[in-house]
Amino acid sequence: MSESAAVRETEVVVIGAGPGGYAAAFAAADRGRKVLLVDAGEQPGGVCLNRGCIPSKTLLHMAYLINEARGAEQWGLKFAPPEIDLAKLRKWKDDVIGKNAGGIRQLAKSRSVELVRAWARFEDSQTLLLSSERGGPPDQGRVRFQYAILATGSRPTAIPAFNIDSPRVMNSTSALELPNIPRSLLIVGGGYIGLEMGTVYAALGSEVTVVEMTEGLLPGADRDLVRVLQARLKKTFKAIHLNTKVAAIADTGNGISVTFEPAGADAKSPAPANAEFERILVAVGRTPNSEGLGLENTKVKTIARGFVEVDEHRRTADEHIYAIGDIAGEPMLAHKASYEAKVVAEVLAGENVAVDARAIPAVVFTDPEIAWAGLTETQAQQAGREIVVAKFPWGASGRATALGRNDGLTKVIASPESGRVLGVGIVGVGAGELIAEGVLAIEMGGTASDVGMSIHAHPTLSETVGEAAELVSGTTIHLAPPRR
Ligand code: FAD
Ligand code: NAD
Repeated sequence: MSESAAVRETEVVVIGAGPGGYAAAFAAADRGRKVLLVDAGEQPGGVCLNRGCIPSKTLLHMAYLINEARGAEQWGLKFAPPEIDLAKLRKWKDDVIGKNAGGIRQLAKSRSVELVRAWARFEDSQTLLLSSERGGPPDQGRVRFQYAILATGSRPTAIPAFNIDSPRVMNSTSALELPNIPRSLLIVGGGYIGLEMGTVYAALGSEVTVVEMTEGLLPGADRDLVRVLQARLKKTFKAIHLNTKVAAIADTGNGISVTFEPAGADAKSPAPANAEFERILVAVGRTPNSEGLGLENTKVKTIARGFVEVDEHRRTADEHIYAIGDIAGEPMLAHKASYEAKVVAEVLAGENVAVDARAIPAVVFTDPEIAWAGLTETQAQQAGREIVVAKFPWGASGRATALGRNDGLTKVIASPESGRVLGVGIVGVGAGELIAEGVLAIEMGGTASDVGMSIHAHPTLSETVGEAAELVSGTTIHLAPPRR
């Protein structure tokens, strides 16, 4: 198509077809808008479907099966060591992605949302240029629109010193490709990606070392939850070095030689000065994709770290442009993007709706999983806020014991005055599913007593939520009462 090619007219154009973008396009179409959805990727679904949530959880399921089979030996059930067919594993992961992408295409079609594969950038506040090549001529024409929803997501944050042009240095995208099962893997960054991908590679047989520059894994999560996970990771990973940074790396031909340096006081498990690893995974956070979009041709403003400035309706400083998902700020989570998408669709439909979620759940899909929602104990302490915290250890759960996994903890954080549930934190197998009850309780303004008196099926792990809630204002059946 030539530069003078087609000018499409639409009411709403959405840039980026990730969990923010496709949800916004569908929700706007469902409210009667004419919608065009533009994404540069080969298939829709964004980072989450193609190189994030879904492939990582597919691989984590494999890891779970391997670990369960290994763990069953202690109960008298011995399986032969797994034979891992990497090509088949990759194919299964790609099939899962393909099926979901096909579903998104179908859903777009069913709503007459036109899906266009192109790089988009703004010519002005109401015109987009579409190109086949990033930054190239607008060979796919222009789009004139009433409103644009920016949902271009984020990318792995790169560390310039690690830019040594070696395939042994991976980011989350290349690590998810499973190039091989490295004998040894260094993971830089003890956050979500580092620990999830570490769980995958350790289960497949790699010796995993984690180096984290702060004093604890998963900054942001309450320490009592992290301690339970860390106790298990100490057994499945080769080493975890906190308060430690990587000063330099070099490809030796056989591996990556790494020089470590302290990043703060009290490195409890100090790293050696130097070590060699077959591969490195760099997982030190993500950077919003706000460059190259022609934002300078609009009134949109960017703020710290490149996020786009938005108000509670997710409107940018430009009245024609909204922004949602990773580009619009933390937390960079798929369900936060989809929630914002629904808010914007309603705002465009003339509803007086704002982003006002009381609880955005966070789930780290490690083994065991960690999940939290609403107020954390750490946040309450930092804010000097009075709270009641009740903790139910999974050692007292019949179901957790039957699963051979009573390494878990459920806690409920409540208001001392009203008893309302303000936060829930869980570590243990299946925590990611269990947290939904906490989210609902917080959103509905439920009290701990409401949750405690709701009947939880026996024997389930959900009983730990009920029992923790009961403990907020009294005793619970499966824990001894405090001494009188
Ligand atoms: P994205 O999903 O990043 O999609 C943005 C889309 O915009 C992309 O398809 C891109 O091609 C397109 N695009 C960018 N620029 C342009 C342009 N100029 N023109 C056209 N198209 C463009 N979150 C969870 O909630 N749960 C998880 O389990 C989870 N696991 C993760 C695992 C990994 C390994 C990673 C990396 C992330 C994970 N996340 C998870 C985070 C999650 O993927 C993101 O929060 C989510 O994808 C953000 O959605 P989004 O719609 O904002 O953008
Ligand atoms: P992260 O922010 O979760 O963790 C990065 C970690 O790297 C932090 O602990 C940080 O202190 C550490 N770090 C930073 N620089 C370092 C350095 N030079 N040396 C050593 N450590 C360093 O980031 P991530 O793991 O890259 O994940 C990015 C984001 O993607 C997450 O924050 C989350 O929003 C999203 N994500 C979510 C899920 C999920 O929901 N299950 C899974 C994966 C990713």
